[in-house]
Parts: sequence; C-alpha cells; structure tokens
Amino acid sequence: MSTHHDIAVIGAGPAGGNAALVAARAGLDVVLLDEQPVPGGQVWRGKSPSIHSAPQTPESQSGDALRQALTESAVEQLTDARVWDIRRQDDRWALQVLRNGESHEVAASALILATGAREYVQPVPGWTTPGVIGLAGATALFKQSLTLPGTRTVVSGTGPLVFYVASEIRRLGGEVAAVVTPNTRGEWARALPAMAGQPRLLGRGALWVADLMLARVPILWGHAISEVFGGNSVTGVRARRLGENDPGQEFSADSVCVGHGLIPQIEAAQMLGVHILHDPALGGWVPEVQPDGATRVDGLYLTGDGCGIRGATAAALQGVLTGARVARDMGKSTHMPSLRPWRRAAKFGRAMTALSQPRASVAALTTDETIVCRCESLRRADILAEIAIGAQSTNAVKSGRRAGMGPCGGKYCQTAIAALIAAQTGKPLSEIAPPTPRPPLRPVPLSQAAGDFDYDDLPIPKPAPL
Ligand SMILES: Cc1cc2nc3c(=O)[nH]c(=O)nc-3n(C[C@H](O)[C@H](O)[C@H](O)COP(=O)(O)OP(=O)(O)OC[C@H]3O[C@@H](n4cnc5c(N)ncnc54)[C@H](O)[C@@H]3O)c2cc1C
Repeated sequence: MSTHHDIAVIGAGPAGGNAALVAARAGLDVVLLDEQPVPGGQVWRGKSPSIHSAPQTPESQSGDALRQALTESAVEQLTDARVWDIRRQDDRWALQVLRNGESHEVAASALILATGAREYVQPVPGWTTPGVIGLAGATALFKQSLTLPGTRTVVSGTGPLVFYVASEIRRLGGEVAAVVTPNTRGEWARALPAMAGQPRLLGRGALWVADLMLARVPILWGHAISEVFGGNSVTGVRARRLGENDPGQEFSADSVCVGHGLIPQIEAAQMLGVHILHDPALGGWVPEVQPDGATRVDGLYLTGDGCGIRGATAAALQGVLTGARVARDMGKSTHMPSLRPWRRAAKFGRAMTALSQPRASVAALTTDETIVCRCESLRRADILAEIAIGAQSTNAVKSGRRAGMGPCGGKYCQTAIAALIAAQTGKPLSEIAPPTPRPPLRPVPLSQAAGDFDYDDLPIPKPAPL
C-alpha cells in the first residue's frame, strides 16, 4: 500500500465516490477510504454477499454503477478502513486509519471529507426499549441484508424517510401497524413548489404514500409517538396529536422505526479548523464551505451531506464539483461543471431537510425519567439539574455529567441536550454550540490510540514541594 497520495477522500458515498473518480480521471493519485465493506455510502449501500441475487432497486443500481466505475478507475480503494484521527503535518495531511485491527498512517497533499450524515431520534418515554431502531438505520437493514425490523412495526418520524421505510417494510413482506408523522399535510403541500424541480423523486414519494393508503395503513399526520411500551422488548406505542391535550391512540407492535432528520457529521471539519454556522434547514450545525467544496483551510475540501443535508442527488453532483475543484487547484486542466444541476437538487434536498427537522412539540413529550444520554444512562432530570446549576453549553453538561463521554462520543445525545439548554435558558439553538470535537473520530482500541510504550520510559514528575 502506497502511503502518500495527491488526494485522500474520506467517505465512499455518492459525494466522496464521485469526487475521487473525477480527480483520478484528471490524472491525480487518489486514495478513497471508507469504514464500510464496499463503496456506496448510506444511500447506495452495497448488499451483503448472501443477498446478491435479490432484485435491484434504484439505489442498488446507482450503487453498482459507482462501484463499477471505481473498480475500472485508478482510484486506490481502502474499504473496512476507519479514519480515527487527522493531523496537519507541514504540507500534508496525516490520517490514522484502523484496518484489520491495526492502525496505519495514510498521507496526502489534499484532503476531501465526504463523511455524510448520521440520524437523529428525539427521545420519548421508552425510546431505548429493545426493538426500537432508527428510520435511517432501518434502510441499512433492508439494503444490506433484506432484514425486517420485526413482524408488525410502527413507523414514525419526520420527512420523506418515514414513507420510504413504511412502504419498503410492506414490499419486503412485513406489516405496518401505523405511520405516525409530526408533519401535517399542509407542510407537505407548502413544500411542493421546491419539490417540483425533481419530478422523478416526487413521483416515487407519491407512490409510497399511495401504496400505504391502498393497503389501509393508518397514517396519523401531525402526530408523534408519546410512549413506547414494553420492558425487554417492544409491545406497542401510544401516538398523540401534537399540540393538543389528546389522550392518544395505542397500537400493538413488536418493533418501532423512528427518526427526526439527519445531522451532518462535522466533527472532522471542526477539528481541522473549519468555521461552523447554524442552519436548521441543512440539519443544524454545518461547516462554512463553497458549493464546489473549497474551504478556507489550505488543502481541505468538504462535500456531500457532511456539509449540509441536501440528499443523495445533490451529494453526487457536489462530489463531481469538488473533484474538479481539487484537480484544478492541484494544477490539472479540467472542465469545471455547471453549478445549476446541483442548485436544483439542493433546493429539493433543503425542502426535505426542513420537513425533517426535530420539533419542540415532540421534545415536550419527554418526562423527567426519559433517558437522554443512553451511553451514560442520564435522564432528562439529570441534564436539567446540571443546567439549573449553571451549565449553559453542551461542553459544560459534558464536564458535569459525562454526557457525550460514552462510546457514541455524544453523537446521539448532544442535539437533545442542546435543545434542553435552549429551552431552559431561552437562548436560540444557534447560540448553543456543539461540544469541542476530539480524536478519536471513531471508536478505536486503546492499544492503537496509545501506541507501544514501556512503563520505564514514562516521565514521572518530581514530587510537588511541600
Ligand atoms: C443510516 C442512513 C441511511 C440513509 N438512507 C437513505 C435512503 O435510504 N435514501 C435516501 O435518499 N437517503 C438516505 N440517507 C441520507 C443519505 O445518506 C444521503 O443523502 C447521501 O447518502 C449522502 O451522500 P454522501 O456521500 O454525502 O454521504 P454518505 O452516503 O453518508 O457516505 C459517507 C461515507 O463516509 C463514511 N465515513 C464517515 N466517517 C468515516 C470515517 N471516520 N472513516 C471512514 N469512513 C467514514 C461512511 O461509512 C459512509 O460510507 C441515509 C442517511 C443515513 C445516515
């Protein structure tokens, strides 16, 4: 494995995969790293070998096309490669990569971060019951292994993913007990003008809803799950109309898929000095970046959902723009594509992200006993107590209560904690910054992070003078 490259791209989704292809076609030496077993990212996720013969979907076809193009290109692909630290060393980027249980260093002159998004689930009583999974997580189950979350599922959440997941469960032979969405029909109607620019995607969405209606699946608009029942496993949910004193309806189920939008994975960009801005219609905190991926940090580029949730079509187009921009900056004469198709796709994606935003009315369904930080088993009451004694930032809650110091590194609780701080202090969310990111970016064995050392070599400080 060559360890120094012109460009390292982290993330082999639609954005990173296309950026790598364009840069390699311009004659640059590109390495593409991803922690998944095959390229494709979240939306174009590859099938596991046991289901290779399963019928194709639009996503698997797009993924196959990207994988084929990468295989035929000069891009060096490192799969199962988890990047856990990035440093600037003189004029190069040094990446620490965990692969096959060992850490390797990969170096490059330019770095493209195409790390995508993660999903957000607003806590409600019972949301940590086994059998509750994320909406986006459910899509990974379908695509990678054709697995259903259970036999009878309540599907709940904001934005288009809720209809995709419910319709896909039915297509794969499962039963959907109900679809529960905080969005109202009016919100969807108001988003129509922005969606009109992508008629194919609009048509697919309409088919998902039509399928559910024809199958007489109850669709509860303007509702949310207020409680998940069950001790060791899900037995059902209560769904309530938002903003009203509604006793709610109960649905029996053995599984729940729930999600409230996606959050850009900005930690690496933040760690490397990129300024961040707050834009709820792009998923919250986003890095400051040009449409073609250029940042103010020398040699650093960002692309795809990691710089704002705009969806797969926009991510793929932005990847092409970023690959071309890096190639041009590195002295290659390359064609710079038009920004127009990306702008059109981004408009659609932005409208979907606005519909997917977390809601204060859903946050109001929590109780003091609701778990907010699942790694450290912290209840809402614990977080509120910390805020009451003066914690006004996510960093302060982390210092006081360890929220964010568990295995997920705060990826699942920090958005809920920021919302609690905003509600208690009256500050806007744009004033509650995310916690300071630190390596490791991904979980890594302590032996790899610490490296080899001998106890005899450890510097022992002199005793403090009495
Ligand atoms: C779980 C999940 C499921 C989704 N499912 C759908 C769907 O079904 N339909 C849809 O329209 N949209 C879906 N989305 C949204 C979708 O991710 C995007 O719109 C699209 O995939 C964005 O492309 P991207 O290239 O920017 O990022 P991604 O496709 O997310 O690709 C980012 C890649 O970066 C890799 N990565 C991140 N950090 C590291 C690291 N430190 N080291 C190594 N690799 C790293 C990840 O493994 C991933 O493959 C989903 C999002 C999530 C989080």
